[in-house]
Amino acid sequence: MQFVDAHCHIDLYDNPLEELGHAEAAQVGVLAVTNAPFVFTACRDLVACQQDVWAAVGLHPELVGQYGHQVDELVEHLGETRFVGEVGLDYRVTDRETHQVQRAVFRQIVEACDRRGDTVMTVHSRGAEADVVSMIGELSKGTTILHWYSGAVKYLDVAQGQGSYFSVNSAMLASKNGRKLVSRMDRSRVLTESDGPFAIVRRRHASPRDIPWAIHRLADFWGEEPEAVRAIVMDNWAAVLKC
Ligand SMILES: [Zn+2]
Repeated sequence: MQFVDAHCHIDLYDNPLEELGHAEAAQVGVLAVTNAPFVFTACRDLVACQQDVWAAVGLHPELVGQYGHQVDELVEHLGETRFVGEVGLDYRVTDRETHQVQRAVFRQIVEACDRRGDTVMTVHSRGAEADVVSMIGELSKGTTILHWYSGAVKYLDVAQGQGSYFSVNSAMLASKNGRKLVSRMDRSRVLTESDGPFAIVRRRHASPRDIPWAIHRLADFWGEEPEAVRAIVMDNWAAVLKC
């Protein structure tokens, strides 16, 4: 494994196994997030024979209204996986009346991760960065990765002080705000992600095989050689797995 995609919805591609084949050929390891507890088992079975692919149990904040009642199922799956995501809060595209339920569900997930102690949790925080960062700070002992962080610099600083990692994609590096945020991140905290198939890269759905390209974009941005940036990101991923 030469690269890592720390946030990819592999189960949502038309042909997940083909996508995983491309990832393997490109030497990209994949943290395969899911959006609801009832799909975790299928994703786990899908990736079971793959090397360097980790299935994560999740409950996407935009789906809490529909599947929030499955949070106990998510907690049960923590008996078999230390990888959690996509979870978190979203105040931007969700109805206000779901926010309280989102917080209750996320709190329950973070507390369960805390009891397990060695979880790696990939977290969505759009429009809800203050609450996400304060709940993680208050409750979490596991490792947290803020995925596609787009909030204020002040909460990024707090999250970084709490030991969170950040998974960065090429769309972030193409936006002014994204570049400002990435420039604020300590290099020892940066990982790469595709957020495929949702994110769009070069006018098509993003994929784990785009990660080498994201490394090149990050190298341009940092003014480093791609190989040096690749090595930094893989050291960071090794540190995450060791937690
Ligand atoms: Zn996602």
